[in-house]
Amino acid sequence: MSEFDIELQQVRKSFGQVSVVRDIDLQIPKGEFVSILGPSGCGKTTTLNMIAGFSMPSRGDIRIRGRSQMKVPPEKRNLGLVFQNYALFPHMTVAENVGFGLRMRGVARPEMKAIVESALRSVHLEGFSDRYPRELSGGQQQRVALARAIAPQPSVLLLDEPLSNLDLKLREAMRAELKEIHERLGMTFVYVTHDQEEAMAMSDRIVVMEGGTIAQQGVPGDIYRHPASRFVAEFIGQSNILPVSAYSRSAAGYKLSIEGGPVILAGAGADSPASVGFCSVRPQNVRLVGVDDVPPGMNRLEATLRRVTDFGAHQELEVVIGLGHRLVLQHPPIAAGHALAPGQMVTLAVNPSDVRLLAV
Ligand code: ATP
Repeated sequence: MSEFDIELQQVRKSFGQVSVVRDIDLQIPKGEFVSILGPSGCGKTTTLNMIAGFSMPSRGDIRIRGRSQMKVPPEKRNLGLVFQNYALFPHMTVAENVGFGLRMRGVARPEMKAIVESALRSVHLEGFSDRYPRELSGGQQQRVALARAIAPQPSVLLLDEPLSNLDLKLREAMRAELKEIHERLGMTFVYVTHDQEEAMAMSDRIVVMEGGTIAQQGVPGDIYRHPASRFVAEFIGQSNILPVSAYSRSAAGYKLSIEGGPVILAGAGADSPASVGFCSVRPQNVRLVGVDDVPPGMNRLEATLRRVTDFGAHQELEVVIGLGHRLVLQHPPIAAGHALAPGQMVTLAVNPSDVRLLAV
């Protein structure tokens, strides 16, 4: 028996001459919550559809629990599915909707009733059995769809942007609920989203896709702190990206010349990539300090303030360094009377360990 619930081996999908998923290798262990994350059109849904069996790979193999699925139809793969449009049957009650798959499998009535009740409890909809979909809010309908998917107790649940029709508050509440359901049921979840916050909030592992390939995969915090490329640094959270014209090793790590000069940034660590195109620094890692207050060992940057945006809990400062490179930094609200004015010079400090080298 394979240790992986799902394995994609060199999977490719082409439509005519165009390959929209290209030679993907992916292994998903049992019980993991994996998010496939990427911008519109990068191939997320195509990948999920191939796992579900709605679409066949042009090349490669998909294995579920160690068995090739090339000849296995969708209904035999023991997968649960939840999609963006919940697609409940409008003429059936909540209980009938949730029990639909079970009835198709010939599950006996008393047993079915118990399973439906348990699935509705899982999504906190006990007491809603006799309602019709039109009598439910969007969030409740999506929870019925979730209950319907988990009722047959599949080993894997595939979810394609299931929260995108809900408003922000409900989406955030549902994130926590989905994570809790995942932990309680111990099923493998494969979750497709273009929303990086959603993926960060729920996943054990994130697979970032770009143009039909996997750009990077790992635990959310690692991807955030160690983006492998410019694309990932920009897609996961906010990043300042600076073009690098020269790289040299130093006693403590390395030094980077920012294109156009005269800015030099020190970085920590042993990174020595074959090609260095850019470096990135997160906005929360750029500190505004007094002219004489740059802590020892930190990078010192002189900048011109362009704009201050007040978000209440924090302020966002846009500054320019060197020959016109823009940097954004986050700062706690500055007390009235000490307000900063666009055009003034400011001093910034950046810890070398917060500077990331990015390949081109
Ligand atoms: P979104 O977040 O917008 O849903 P996605 O990452 O899920 O995007 P896919 O739906 O997998 O992207 O589509 C990937 C690419 O494949 C797109 O360029 C799309 O136009 C193309 N594509 C998908 N299905 C077909 C098809 N049946 N025929 C031709 N091209 C297709």
